[in-house]
Amino acid sequence: MIGAPVLEISDLTVDYGLGEQAVRAVRSVDLTLHRGEVLGLAGESGSGKSTLAYAMLRLLPPPGVIRSGTVTYHPGAGAPVDVLTLSPAALRRLRWAEVSIVFQGAMNSLNPVHTVAMQLCDVLAAHRPGTTGAGRRRRARELLDLVGISADRLDAYPHQLSGGMRQRVMIAMALALEPRVVVLDEPTTALDVVVQRQILAQLRALRADVGFSVLFITHDLSLLVEFADRIAIMYGGRIVETAPAADLYRDSLHPYSTGLLSSFPALRGPRRERVGIPGSPPDLRNMPTGCTFHPRCPRAFDPCAVSVPELAVPADDAGPGRTVACWLHAERVRRGALS
Ligand code: ATP
Ligand code: SF4
Ligand code: MG
Repeated sequence: MIGAPVLEISDLTVDYGLGEQAVRAVRSVDLTLHRGEVLGLAGESGSGKSTLAYAMLRLLPPPGVIRSGTVTYHPGAGAPVDVLTLSPAALRRLRWAEVSIVFQGAMNSLNPVHTVAMQLCDVLAAHRPGTTGAGRRRRARELLDLVGISADRLDAYPHQLSGGMRQRVMIAMALALEPRVVVLDEPTTALDVVVQRQILAQLRALRADVGFSVLFITHDLSLLVEFADRIAIMYGGRIVETAPAADLYRDSLHPYSTGLLSSFPALRGPRRERVGIPGSPPDLRNMPTGCTFHPRCPRAFDPCAVSVPELAVPADDAGPGRTVACWLHAERVRRGALS
């Protein structure tokens, strides 16, 4: 059961660079992560997924600049805070103890000269100074168990582990302090499909046991269809559709989502034709007018090249919890106010 909001992103806009040189990578994004949910964020390479995740935790590398927006974090107790205006000390506390992130390609960021146990125990020692060495080792073993690694790997060095295992160790580190939110940016790239599925299945089970929320970023929509509760689709820096995972799979509303879904084999039901999406993602320096997907959209019509469709509840009755940014589903078009 999905609970109240934990993290609410509102009107977030991010540029790389300043002035004339600036490129806008995230455009006025609204997105909410709820308590106990696995929210998937999907979109082609360059759509702004990582930029959004890093900006919301103020981890954006230069020349990234947040141009507008708020990111409201709702703690378990106490008043909500805006992550974007927190003091550096409060931000550090939030990042470790409340919201943790596993970066894209994180498996290569383990320290090569320290064992898995040392690295896990270091995190615990730094943030739980009251714990004993034996207690930390016990917890490290427990954490490895949580991510499906047997305790006999505790004293292994990173190079003695497969890529999939290193990635799991990173996830164990992210879970070490029992955060309320875990952000996983493409944590399974370059791993085989079996490992990807195992990791996601474990996270889903953990979410049920431990009760945290997960923002899972990937361009593999098939994984999200299977393991996420809700999915947000990103294109050219905007969220173009959000929906419960099953609804998106059964009946996607945005033609871009439909294109992404048709790029992988059907999980169940009748076979779909694998078509993919013609053309390439938009050039951020030279964005198309109106709906930025219009040059690639098989259903584009009159308003599409002229006006930007807002992300809104669809005019058609598509079920609860859905939003879409497409003129095909806009109330104004339905009413004939715009043709
Ligand atoms: P991927 O699936 O490949 O990880 P993504 O959706 O995470 O892609 P981002 O990495 O957020 O996309 O990049 C969004 C856009 O911002 C891209 O067009 C990228 O070229 C641009 N970008 C990212 N980092 C920088 C940078 N340091 N300077 C300039 N532009 C950047
Ligand atoms: Fe296609 Fe128009 Fe919808 Fe954009 S607004 S996705 S171009 S139909
Ligand atoms: Mg990325």
